[in-house]
Amino acid sequence: MLSVRSRMKQIKVRFAPSPTGPLHIGGARSALFNYLFARKQRGKMLLRIEDTDLERSSPEFEREIIDSLSWLGINWDEGIDVGGDNGPYRQTERLDTYQRYVDQLLRSGHAYHCFCTEEELARERQALLEKGEIVAYSGKCRHLDPEERQRKLRQGLVPTVRFKVVSGQEVVVNDLVRGTVTFNSSEIGDFIIVKSDGIPTYNFAVVVDDHEMGVTHVIRAEEHLSNTPRQLLIYQTLGFEIPEFAHISLILGKDRQKMSKRHGATSIMQYRESGYLPEAVFNFLALLGWSPEGEQEILGRDEIVKQFSLSRVAKNPAVFDLDKLNWLNAQHIKRKAIMELGEMLKPYLKSSPFWHSVEQMDQATYEVLIEAVRDRIVRLVDVVKEVEPFFIRPQYEADTLDRLEQPEVRGMLQGLLEHLPDELDLEEARSFMKGLPKALQLPAKQVYMPIRLALTGSPQGPELPYLLVVMGVPEVRRRITGLI
Ligand code: GLU
Repeated sequence: MLSVRSRMKQIKVRFAPSPTGPLHIGGARSALFNYLFARKQRGKMLLRIEDTDLERSSPEFEREIIDSLSWLGINWDEGIDVGGDNGPYRQTERLDTYQRYVDQLLRSGHAYHCFCTEEELARERQALLEKGEIVAYSGKCRHLDPEERQRKLRQGLVPTVRFKVVSGQEVVVNDLVRGTVTFNSSEIGDFIIVKSDGIPTYNFAVVVDDHEMGVTHVIRAEEHLSNTPRQLLIYQTLGFEIPEFAHISLILGKDRQKMSKRHGATSIMQYRESGYLPEAVFNFLALLGWSPEGEQEILGRDEIVKQFSLSRVAKNPAVFDLDKLNWLNAQHIKRKAIMELGEMLKPYLKSSPFWHSVEQMDQATYEVLIEAVRDRIVRLVDVVKEVEPFFIRPQYEADTLDRLEQPEVRGMLQGLLEHLPDELDLEEARSFMKGLPKALQLPAKQVYMPIRLALTGSPQGPELPYLLVVMGVPEVRRRITGLI
């Protein structure tokens, strides 16, 4: 007896980007939902490159997309870079396969050569628009007699191939997110499946590939929903098993307009460069349309996989909120171990003016520095601004200086210097600071704020024990001596 699992078909999803630009938030979200579904269902994830737009596709974009996915922690079991039984995985390398199916459709009379020129088609479209009619191909070349067709071919005219659409049929998409969506085939018209340069169109290649590669679930952006009826007609005509479809909602900016550069950086690499953590972006993308069952929104990758389900993917548009991404990033930074975070921050510190000082610190002091700023940084780049008070002597504002020059403040600072030991570790610095008001016989508020102002010139910043340890006692003495 077969077990239930082995009798069930292996779930397979795919991400099929066109390498015509970098990976953006929207594409990354589609890739992520496929990945989450595959991992949750113990299925397979496939990566295919849809490079049939020869002019706009480039190997550089393909590389950037792959690097962006890898950075996010999205991996795949089959396809580009990893191989598999159903390759090649780049559409321009699969032209023979498409040709086989095109020939089959031409032979069976489900497709035909079309010799209409761009100009003719544009004129036809314009006329339909002016009459307020549905813009669909007239079907002119459908009825060319075979002799006429041969004559045109002999003349050297290069045809496109059109798929014959029987008008007046209902085409029903049963979508896992959107429910039942019905289209009328009369609004589609015979559409091109092979362009005059011999390259198949997206709608045709995607069907052949999803079939040949054994894809069971097509999870992609809502903007492809209107392509789906065309694809369904091809599936039916070629006798292919139809996969499940799930079209995930658009992503809008906070102003409810379509997401664009105005709403923040849009390519994944830009987020990486400005210091977002991959796990924070992963977490953020997952929440663009999917919602966890519980209240907890700060989730690690494994937790998201565990909880993911298409039934909790919303129909209504997702809203991209940069403040939320920033918040999530800060939360994920807070959860990082100091050592790991320290390593992640080094590249940013290396390009700061403080690198020389940082480099000279011993590891323990460096870790105190990282602990001091960990809860204060939203993006990794922020580390440069946050460590500034440790390395730059303050420029006091006039009213700060007035305050520091008051006799009782100077007296307190004098007292601090008298009590300050020559060396302190973090524990010692904490207990020293805790005991200082008592030692000076002053209320805490007359001690801590003036010391902070004296050391950094600012009422905000890292906690005092961190300042003592990272600056070191000699530097603390120098900054305070300069004031009294
Ligand atoms: N190459 C298409 C795109 O990048 C893929 C669409 C699909 O997933 O079917 O939008």
